[in-house]
Amino acid sequence: MGRLIAVSNRLPTGPNPTGGLVVALSDVLAGSGGLWVGWGGDIAEAPADRLADLGEGPFRRLAFDLTAAEVEGYYLGHANSVLWPVLHGRTDLMQIASGHLMAYKAVNGRLARMLAALVEPDDLLWVHDFHLLPLAWELRALGVENRIGLFLHTPFPAPFDLAALPNAAETCDWLMRYDLVGLQTAADLRKFRAALAAVAGADTSDDGGLVRLGRQTTRAAALPIAIDTAGFAALAEAEFGRLPPGVVKSERALIIGVDRLDYSKGLPQRFRAFAEFLARNEDWHRHVSLLQISPPTREGVAAYDAIREETEVLAGRINGAYADITWAPLRYIHRQIPRATLAGLYRAARVGLVTPLMDGMNLVAKEYVAAQDPADPGVLILSQFAGAAEQMEDALIVNPHDVEQVARAIRTALTMPPRERHRRYERLMAGLLAQDVHGWSAAFLQALGGPRPQ
Ligand code: UDP
Repeated sequence: MGRLIAVSNRLPTGPNPTGGLVVALSDVLAGSGGLWVGWGGDIAEAPADRLADLGEGPFRRLAFDLTAAEVEGYYLGHANSVLWPVLHGRTDLMQIASGHLMAYKAVNGRLARMLAALVEPDDLLWVHDFHLLPLAWELRALGVENRIGLFLHTPFPAPFDLAALPNAAETCDWLMRYDLVGLQTAADLRKFRAALAAVAGADTSDDGGLVRLGRQTTRAAALPIAIDTAGFAALAEAEFGRLPPGVVKSERALIIGVDRLDYSKGLPQRFRAFAEFLARNEDWHRHVSLLQISPPTREGVAAYDAIREETEVLAGRINGAYADITWAPLRYIHRQIPRATLAGLYRAARVGLVTPLMDGMNLVAKEYVAAQDPADPGVLILSQFAGAAEQMEDALIVNPHDVEQVARAIRTALTMPPRERHRRYERLMAGLLAQDVHGWSAAFLQALGGPRPQ
């Protein structure tokens, strides 16, 4: 194999970037002399056709800039106001604008030109996520014949939702130019095949995962993303000791929720379920608190301003109704918390509450389990609509829309006998150790580097 070139919307920045994806790719990037290309986060006056070399860390990073208009049209516009809602089954929240689609294509076209200039014949290109769907199409138009794979971190939509895109057939055509499309779950893979057949007339009859459309063939596979299980468990153990006094399991029971402030995460439903739990379980008043950490993202997109408004009103109402002078049932934090601190907090929490309405995987669910103290593990409550639910059957699986059911699950989790907590934790943890992020990236690269789909 030649070099690995990873491409994503955001370049991992800072001296010690530590996201799961970075851990997954670092070794392969470093070992193959590879590089990572992405937006450095800077706003340029004019679109530049040059990548800035941020130099060597564990691997080489090359940054592109975006202009303010590109951030508006490509990032906040087509990617986050059209594709994101469609991919999460919320076509009602789409904000279609032809100028935004043009900016999305223009950014991908420019990025393709910059990549084409540095790609060598044996390089493998691994593209990440919904910001870059046209990248392979653009690269092929420039004559790049290298293996190119896409991993989609989000869910894949049902055919009806995909059809709501302003350019549904074109989007299918973009996907067909990848050698490999990796999806999070078996359910996403089924939807991918169904949607390409329904929207573009692709032939999906091959049971080995090949999809054919005109002269193009691509391979689609379910390759669920994972975490660095052992590394995260060690981090949680170390960080637990650094938590401020008062945040430990033996005192007031802690329930933790950690989600970007996004309408896909089901926060209003979660807050209503917690209120329902408080209404029905007076014996738990003053003995439990929900810590919800929700850093804002994509500010300026209307749907995000609305979800912030809605959740703040609900949080205020819950505390107004139930708090007393020594206890607030809900702490709602709108700031990014370092992952290391989160690891310690997960371990301190008796319950992890992960109830998205739709989520590609949800790494918080996996991190919560990996962080637990094996001698006294907490309980994960997990939405059936998180990709993680396909692998984490030993969590308390809930329908996040059913507020009464989630309220009951909170009580079940808080009162679960140790034997059952251990049994569930051990099975979940065995799964996370057997399928960690190193295995995930190896499986993707093996599928990408294997025989070319024909
Ligand atoms: N995270 C963090 N600080 C925060 C909130 C989240 O470091 O304040 C991390 C979290 O530990 C997890 C990731 O961000 O690794 C979120 O991934 P997930 O798949 O749960 O959701 P996404 O944000 O990708 O939709």
